[in-house]
Amino acid sequence: MNVTLTPEDQAFRAELHTFLKTHLTPDLVRASRLNTSVFSDPEPCLRWHKLLHERGWVAPLWPVEYGGTGWSLTQRWIYETETARAGAPALSPLGLRMAGPVIMRFGTSEQKAHYLPRILAGTDYWCQGYSEPGSGSDLASLKTRARRVREADGTEVYRVDGSKIWTTHAHHANRMFALVRTGDETVKKHEGISFLLIDMQTPGITIRPIRSVSGDHEVNQVFFDDVRVPLEARVGEEGQGWTIAKYLLEFERGGAMSSGRLRGAYERLTRLADADVIAADPDASLALSQIELDIDALEATELRILATMTLGQNPGSTVSSMLKLRWSEIHQSITRLGMRLLGADALAWESMRPMDAHDSEAGLEDAARPIVAQYLNARAYTIFGGTSEIQREIIARELLS
Ligand SMILES: Cc1cc2nc3c(=O)[nH]c(=O)nc-3n(C[C@H](O)[C@H](O)[C@H](O)COP(=O)(O)OP(=O)(O)OC[C@H]3O[C@@H](n4cnc5c(N)ncnc54)[C@H](O)[C@@H]3O)c2cc1C
Repeated sequence: MNVTLTPEDQAFRAELHTFLKTHLTPDLVRASRLNTSVFSDPEPCLRWHKLLHERGWVAPLWPVEYGGTGWSLTQRWIYETETARAGAPALSPLGLRMAGPVIMRFGTSEQKAHYLPRILAGTDYWCQGYSEPGSGSDLASLKTRARRVREADGTEVYRVDGSKIWTTHAHHANRMFALVRTGDETVKKHEGISFLLIDMQTPGITIRPIRSVSGDHEVNQVFFDDVRVPLEARVGEEGQGWTIAKYLLEFERGGAMSSGRLRGAYERLTRLADADVIAADPDASLALSQIELDIDALEATELRILATMTLGQNPGSTVSSMLKLRWSEIHQSITRLGMRLLGADALAWESMRPMDAHDSEAGLEDAARPIVAQYLNARAYTIFGGTSEIQREIIARELLS
């Protein structure tokens, strides 16, 4: 996209380039390029997070009073596109883009003072306890229960029982934000849900790994057996969890700029597609052009949303769903085309994770190594964060009704 930059924006870009040159080391770039899964591996991710935090740049979307950067829309765009182009690891969205905005909006002053600096510093690593076996798209049917219990010294606490599933990076996280049922059968299902912040070290929590088709261990099932959670760990009022959950989902689906990262993946793909391959496969050439156009269109939509958020508003559910739908589909197109361009090399399978910690097993060049695993992993992109069918329903309901 062609944007005319003011002298201040040019100076900002030069400052960013200097920072990237000195701090974004080749091993961080390689870890990012060879990443196969939804999220970056926590080690490079947190290393990069802390470097950005030291520079004061880790939370561009946060209000300045909580540690945000106060950047203009153009500066935010420059930051997102340039860091993605340079190949920086993606930061985990769970603290910065999910728990953080919720705590800012619904948390008590004590919760803000405790959690927000820890999210900024990368001290806490979060996971999301929404989905349960039998409660994914129909999230409001969730059954994990939090009972209020009075302890011997008179303190009231919650005791949590139940199970969460598909919990990304629960095995790395020390914190979970979770939806639990606090209302009984007499309360409407949406009104009986509360939002808790749970310490993952609490006795009674068990994590069982789920290995995905791509060979990655990123998701888990988490079991709660009489887990003690203080009342002060509830965000908002009891029964307000559904309102908070929906607010958070807007940020999960629509709070990031994905176009820069998609463009980086697209550019790597074009390097894989040499002239002979393209000449022999006009469909691949057409697919490349289509992806480029799709990324341009996505970028324009993202800028529109960023403009809204810069004015202090939340993204809005329709537009968040549109973004989630498009970036997940474009990402899948890129990985699908990658497989096509690999040809017979796609039969080579590399099982080591993370890939950057090992030499290639399959004997492929770095550019080609993660493609098969990325393709398989990307099947989940149109499922997590709400399936494409659900996003289309939200868009249809809000735009067409
Ligand atoms: C890799 C990965 C990571 C994830 N990470 C997390 C996480 O960290 N935390 C978390 O809480 N959850 C996570 N999830 C769970 C994810 O949010 C759910 O898988 C998703 O919401 C779908 O729920 P489900 O799997 O129960 O499928 P279901 O809801 O059972 O859906 C099955 C199929 O039916 C369709 N369907 C269902 N209802 C409707 C409807 N009303 N209209 C039209 N079609 C419908 C769906 O589109 C889908 O195709 C993750 C999932 C994956 C795959």
